[in-house]
Amino acid sequence: MKLSILSLSAVAALAVIMTPVLALPTAVVPSAVVSFDQHRVVRIQIENEQELATLSAHDDTLQLDYFTHHKIIGGHVDVRIPPQSFSKFQGLNLKYSTLIENLQSVLNEEKAQDQEYQKTFSAQLNENKRRNGGKTVHASGIEGADVYAAAPAWFSGYHTYADHQNWLATQIANNPDKASAFSAGKTYQNRDQAGIKIGSGPNNVVFHGTQHAREWISTMVVEYIIDQLLTGSDSRVAGYLTKYTFHIIPIMNPDGFVVTQTSNRMHRKNAQSNGGCLGTDTNRNWGFKWNQGGSSTNPCADDYMGPSAFSSPEATNIGNYLKNTPNVVSYIDFHSYSQLWMVPYGYTGTRPGTYAYMSGLAVKAAAALKAVHGTRFTTGDIYNTIYQASGNSADYAYSVGVKAPFAVELRDTGNYGFSLPANQIIPSGEETWAAFSAVLDNIQV
Ligand SMILES: [Zn+2]
Repeated sequence: MKLSILSLSAVAALAVIMTPVLALPTAVVPSAVVSFDQHRVVRIQIENEQELATLSAHDDTLQLDYFTHHKIIGGHVDVRIPPQSFSKFQGLNLKYSTLIENLQSVLNEEKAQDQEYQKTFSAQLNENKRRNGGKTVHASGIEGADVYAAAPAWFSGYHTYADHQNWLATQIANNPDKASAFSAGKTYQNRDQAGIKIGSGPNNVVFHGTQHAREWISTMVVEYIIDQLLTGSDSRVAGYLTKYTFHIIPIMNPDGFVVTQTSNRMHRKNAQSNGGCLGTDTNRNWGFKWNQGGSSTNPCADDYMGPSAFSSPEATNIGNYLKNTPNVVSYIDFHSYSQLWMVPYGYTGTRPGTYAYMSGLAVKAAAALKAVHGTRFTTGDIYNTIYQASGNSADYAYSVGVKAPFAVELRDTGNYGFSLPANQIIPSGEETWAAFSAVLDNIQV
């Protein structure tokens, strides 16, 4: 399969186009871009049945956007509240603290950092191009491959969708002995769910980032794992590549990802049009115990389940891929944020037959993760750790025989939320690699 590649000059042109936009203050953000000026992110404590009922009764009327989903008595949720709803929200008399006073300020800071980063990244690419005699074409015929492969700053910043495509193609082109390209299928807007296969072992491990579009760190961490498998110094890798074959899709939901980079940074769903609102929550759309609670029938809700199970091509494609790939010993769906390493089920609090095995792996993963930078991850089943969520990916994977499926929520715990600063990409990658390799070391095959 040939991936479409944006040429280096086009990438450079994009950077030039983006520069004046990035320099603009909030007030003159182009009208096509959703502004989150004066949107607050608050943490609501839920202490009793009545508070839970009050909150749930106002999900739609106050246009609440749930950033986290620990919506149970004794839990807390992080919620974005638009300015027009805030006084009504205060009238509910729920206990809350403010995490982010003005979300747009955080997004502006994210953009400013990105602008600085893109200068460094472009300079590295240009320097590599100069050393390469001005050529941007790799021996494989892939435009820009050499320069991408050699840019050391990749994990020091976030990237455009086109850059991610180019980066992935570069890894494949430069490692023909270890890696090959595949696509799990086409999205609603006809993009590929592009992936890389690494290794030649009989045990398959499937994982992806960015099922939820705004959770950018999940793609960077998945790419960090790819980089470790291809070029890392961990002495265990050679053994992994003969024991396992890795099927890795950095961006599971590319349509939604593009929305977050062009018009709405807080978009979570895919890009299917549903009753005037954009997108289905693909992680409430998988075809196992769909519509059994913890998902919405409202097309404008951020956890909209879709009109029927597997109505979204993105979930359907990966679901079929899992079903049709023999001997999948693990599946990981990387999300952010909350710092959780979870196992099925999400649709019910009744634990599956092999819960002890799966949660044992999760505990080992969390311990290995903490040993790197001290970051604490909580483990457990989805239902009891966060909230009921039916139609989710990990439950589906378990239902088709994947022995160790995980739903992982990466950094942080709410200080930055989805706008995790770029200087946390490498530490997140390092600790997640430790957790991931702990799973590989302990999986029963
Ligand atoms: Zn998510």
